[in-house]
Amino acid sequence: MKIGIIGLGLIGGSLGFDLRDHGHIVYGVSRKESTCQRAIERGVVDDASVNINLLSTVDIIFLCTPIGLISKTLKQLISNLKPEVIITDVGSVKTAIVKECEPLWSNFVGGHPMAGTAEQGIEAAQKNLFKNAPYVITPTEKTPKNSIKILEALAQSLGSNVYTCSPEIHDQAVAWISHLPVMISASLIAACVEEKEQTVLKIAQQLASSGFKDTSRVGGGNPELGLMMAQYNKTALLHTLQGYRQQLDEAIEYINTEQWDALKQLLMMTQKERSPFLNE
Ligand code: NAP
Repeated sequence: MKIGIIGLGLIGGSLGFDLRDHGHIVYGVSRKESTCQRAIERGVVDDASVNINLLSTVDIIFLCTPIGLISKTLKQLISNLKPEVIITDVGSVKTAIVKECEPLWSNFVGGHPMAGTAEQGIEAAQKNLFKNAPYVITPTEKTPKNSIKILEALAQSLGSNVYTCSPEIHDQAVAWISHLPVMISASLIAACVEEKEQTVLKIAQQLASSGFKDTSRVGGGNPELGLMMAQYNKTALLHTLQGYRQQLDEAIEYINTEQWDALKQLLMMTQKERSPFLNE
C-alpha cells in the first residue's frame, strides 16, 4: 500500500519505520523542513515534504500531529483526495476527534496505538514501538466496515493487540488507566515539593528509589500531553478524579480513626484487584 503520515514525531515516525519494514511505501508530511529531511535520513519514510500534496496518491493517511491539530489538518487535507482514501488518526482521546473528523470525511476511522516513551519528535521515533501494545480502533455505526478491516490488519501487522470499542467507551476507559494516573502522579510530585521543611525535602529526594520512580513516572512526563488529556477528555477525567478523591477520603478516615481492620481489608482487596489490569 501507499501510506501517508502527517506529523513526523514519536508516533508518526515510529509508524513509518514499521510500515516500511512491512513493504509499504510511506510518504511523510511534517511542519518543519528539517524534520522532513531527518525523517528521510533516518529511513522513517520513502519521501517527505512540508507540502500536503505529497499525499495525493496514497491509500491511507495516519494523522499523527498533536491532538489539537488533528481536525484542522484533516480540513486542509481533504480537498485533493479521492473519497476511497482512508483517513485515521492516532490521538490519545477519541470522542472529540471522531465527532469533529467524521462529518468532514466519511471514510474516517478513529484509532489509538497505546504505546509511547517520554521523548518527543523525530529523533524519538523507534522500530517496534507498537509490538505487543494495544491498538484501539473506535468506529461508529457510520464507519465503513472495509476501512475498519484494513486498519485492523495494518495494526496487527505492527504486532499490536487490536481492540475495538466506541469513542466514548475508549475515553472513559483511558481516563481510568492513563489520564487519571497522570494527574495522581503529578499531584504526588506537587505535594512532595510543598514540604516546607527543607531538610526533610532534601533527604526525601536523596532517599527516593524505585517506588517513587514508579509512582512519579507519568506525572513527570510531557506537560503538553497531560494538558491535552484534561482539555479533550474533561468529563471522563473529572469522573475518575472524583472516584479517586472518594477513595482517598476513605483511606484518610480509616487512618485518622485507627480503623486498621478496614484499612487492611482495603489493601487486601487492592492487592487482589491489581493483576487484571496488568493482564497477568
Ligand atoms: P510528537 O513527538 O511531538 O510528534 C508530533 C509531530 O507533529 C511533531 O514532531 C511535529 O513535527 C509535527 N507537527 C506539529 N504540528 C504540525 C502541523 N501543523 N503539521 C504537520 N506536522 C506537525 O508527539 P507524539 O507523541 O508523536 O504525539 C502525536 C500524536 O500521537 C498525538 O495526537 C498524541 O495524542 C498521540 N499519541 C501519543 C502517545 C505518546 O505516548 N506520546 C501515545 C499514543 C498516541 P515538526 O518537527 O515538523 O514540527
